[in-house]
Amino acid sequence: MPRYANSMDSHVLEPHSLWQENLPPSLRDRGLKVTHEGEQEVVIIDGVDVRRDPLDLVPSMRAGGHGDPEKRIQDLDYQGVWAEVLFPSLGIWLPLCPDAELQMEMHRIYNDWLHDTFLRYSERYVGAASIGVADIDKAVAEVERTAAMGFKAVQIPTSAPPERQWNDDAYEPLWAAVSAAGMVLCSHVGSGSDPVVARGPGGALVNWVETFFPAQRLVSYLVAAGVLDRYRDLHFVAVEGGASWIASLMERLDEGFRQHGRWVRPALSAPPSEIIRRQVHASFQHDRAHVRTLDYTGIEAIMWGSDYPHLEGTWPNTRDEIDKVFEGVDPQIRDTITHGNFERLFPVPAPPEGFYETEAEPAAIG
Ligand code: MN
Repeated sequence: MPRYANSMDSHVLEPHSLWQENLPPSLRDRGLKVTHEGEQEVVIIDGVDVRRDPLDLVPSMRAGGHGDPEKRIQDLDYQGVWAEVLFPSLGIWLPLCPDAELQMEMHRIYNDWLHDTFLRYSERYVGAASIGVADIDKAVAEVERTAAMGFKAVQIPTSAPPERQWNDDAYEPLWAAVSAAGMVLCSHVGSGSDPVVARGPGGALVNWVETFFPAQRLVSYLVAAGVLDRYRDLHFVAVEGGASWIASLMERLDEGFRQHGRWVRPALSAPPSEIIRRQVHASFQHDRAHVRTLDYTGIEAIMWGSDYPHLEGTWPNTRDEIDKVFEGVDPQIRDTITHGNFERLFPVPAPPEGFYETEAEPAAIG
């Protein structure tokens, strides 16, 4: 029985100077930049202060392979992970850029860099094109451009811009383009809105919990507004928000569909739970409850992700963490959730025999 995993949730760390070096001179001053203020590393986009990390914490988020494709393969081998879908680290904040032109240009620069640095290096790297929605015409053009470059997935912000919710007709060309390109629609939690909701006592835990509500809201919109009904070949993955909530969301949506049916518009071809089972997936790192919900969700809805190299993830104990989550679980279920579902969405070459059993060392940090 093959024991390897494929990660639905992995991150590259972009060079701090990426946008400063690649934006046209007219936009450069306002592009994403990383600076130090006292004991903090600060990320600023177009005057908006979007992220602060204590400097003493920063090295723990910089595993050897964060920005280097060769060292990253070494870290993948060490974890027993064969393939992964790559999301940004700094770029996750790009939707917070208030200027549409600047935002769309910064997404394009990230996608070019990811392609040139990682996707060209190995088929084990699957690209999620980062797509801003500040300008839908440009978003559609970027979907088509990145599809032609070999990207297999599209990352949209989890929270819609306040003036345009996910059921707005304006998004229709975007859904159509992603579907026509045969790409998987993804959304990584924490993107699209300020991640700091609570301050003061309890803030750390409340903010962590808050990250998974927008993912549930986005799934609700995609199902209820009929997007997934209109594009039945379109798959959506909620990334890093855990997975056991899918069961309760199915029940809640079905309850509304049944009990409030006379107000449900547009009409749906099937109860929401069926649409979700057919087209929606969610990735977790540590969520143990999902294995108790499989009777509701079906196995295909659930995916695993390492979140490498972030603090919330399984690095550097990935092999042990997976063993713990799947202790006592049917090995076939484990294989489907840790790599089978990934391979259905993203055909990648299979690992060589004995891949998981081969011992490896992590890449040096730096
Ligand atoms: Mn992640």
